Amino acid sequence: MAKVIGEISGQSEDKRFKLPGIKIEDECPECKKILHWDSDNEGHYLSYPILGDKASVDFHFYCGDCNKEWNVKGTLGITIKL
Ligand SMILES: [Zn+2]
Repeated sequence: MAKVIGEISGQSEDKRFKLPGIKIEDECPECKKILHWDSDNEGHYLSYPILGDKASVDFHFYCGDCNKEWNVKGTLGITIKL
């Protein structure tokens, strides 16, 4: 029976690492408006992300209502199921 051995880690070689289907929701810390980081939006990708549980990636948010910018941190892992 086939099985997966190991876990993906290290730096991706993809300059524009897209995350199709992923949306992240957060609340503006100033005005409490609900905003979404949507991978389908142009410019929403990760540059050479570090993969695995130990590294963090940043998702950049901007609220046009109050000109507030902030980052939400996450981790990026890739799982293969057989
Ligand atoms: Zn705001």
